[in-house]
Amino acid sequence: MGSQYRFTVDISAKHEGVSGSGIPTFVHHPDGEIKFMVDYGMFQGEEDSEARNYAPLDFKPKNLDFVILTHNHADHNGRIPLLYKNGFHGKVYVTRDTALMLPLSLRDSEKIIRINAEKGRKKALYNEKDVDIALTNLEICEFGKTFEPMPNVKVTFFKNGHLIGAALVLVQISCCNHDDINILYTGDYKKSNVFFDVPQLPKWVLELPLYIVCESTYGTTFSSQEGPPTFVNNLVEMLNNGINTILIPALSVGRYQEIAYTLKTAQGKYFDANIQTWFDGNLAIKYNNLFKYELGILPSMKDFMPLNFKYVEGSNKRDEIIQSTSKQIIVTTSGMGNFGPAPQYISALVERRDVGIHYTCYLTPDSTGYKMVNSGQNVLIDSILKRKCADVRTTSQFSSHARADELQQFLSQFKNIRALMLNHGEISVRTKFAEYCKQALTNCKEVAVLGLGYTVRVNEWKIVKSIREKAS
Ligand SMILES: [Zn+2]
Repeated sequence: MGSQYRFTVDISAKHEGVSGSGIPTFVHHPDGEIKFMVDYGMFQGEEDSEARNYAPLDFKPKNLDFVILTHNHADHNGRIPLLYKNGFHGKVYVTRDTALMLPLSLRDSEKIIRINAEKGRKKALYNEKDVDIALTNLEICEFGKTFEPMPNVKVTFFKNGHLIGAALVLVQISCCNHDDINILYTGDYKKSNVFFDVPQLPKWVLELPLYIVCESTYGTTFSSQEGPPTFVNNLVEMLNNGINTILIPALSVGRYQEIAYTLKTAQGKYFDANIQTWFDGNLAIKYNNLFKYELGILPSMKDFMPLNFKYVEGSNKRDEIIQSTSKQIIVTTSGMGNFGPAPQYISALVERRDVGIHYTCYLTPDSTGYKMVNSGQNVLIDSILKRKCADVRTTSQFSSHARADELQQFLSQFKNIRALMLNHGEISVRTKFAEYCKQALTNCKEVAVLGLGYTVRVNEWKIVKSIREKAS
């Protein structure tokens, strides 16, 4: 039998950091090739992100049979319209909640791309029409219900605590006279979520021989190294130390709502419930409405906003809030402080001693938030040197990624991992986490690091070779 008839799958990940997720998976099958992509996100906040987003594609999207999207974050979905612009005409398989949120996310990505392209005087990566085409090609799939996007391929979504709508994706590829090749893609992973219950994976999945493509964002951080939650303590300390205005930049989907809920549970208990809470950022407010009325969150969590909260309507109101010296808490997009109303607040408030600024997400090195947290007495905001008088703090308390020990716990529940392939983490973190997994997992035969310029080829039993990729 010639090599062209062998049943193998090629898996690669051409992202070397924590954004730009995309996992091309190409199946060599006697009945014909099957090509699909799991996620196709934007590179964001990393060195040469812009160049990587605009780099020529080293595959032909028109040859893809389908796309699977694990969840609604721009670093996982933001380049899907680019696939359609370049000839892809298949379906994107998503969960219902992801489909409900995706129009907000893709239109926001398109807007950011357009604004940056105008600034850089170049043609935008894609346009609104490409977004529309992507949105008309969504195929909604139920959690736990296996579907067949094409012959010989079965796909099942399982709930993932990373974000509402997020899925762990099992792909089972079959071939006559061969065992199935089963691949589980974690996307970004967290065990639980305050907004919905995450059931255990069913026994039949745990017992499958599996290839697992797993994220490793916090692959060198252990939950035991982290102290008790600090966010509310920090707020209380700030309020007791003469701070009047606390600004909290927050990611628009998931984090913004969790911060709102945290404030709701803390007000009256840890700080005066009469302190006005303001919520700003159009995108986050639209997500709030989806959380409240459309998405499958627990009924008991629908009322997640603090008592007496107000949305900031219009820039006049924003100016008034900025001028105020009353005690107030403002939650606004974006999480890293680069987009939405955050830059306006930060620029106006950073030089005031009665201001606290509390970041709540991972800050990439080129973000405003990173500069604010790590600079000394002065900080460069929009090319203007400002005195940093505000009390600036950050926390990883709200992270929606599992730590190394939590990933190990997740992985150790499987009976037979034929190979673990690590992606979505700094390369040094992936490599260290790979070493940790080799020691800590007794159920895993091999560990590979994706993103090092090699495609991993597997057959029904094991990794058969690593193939050097063409430079992209
Ligand atoms: Zn994510």
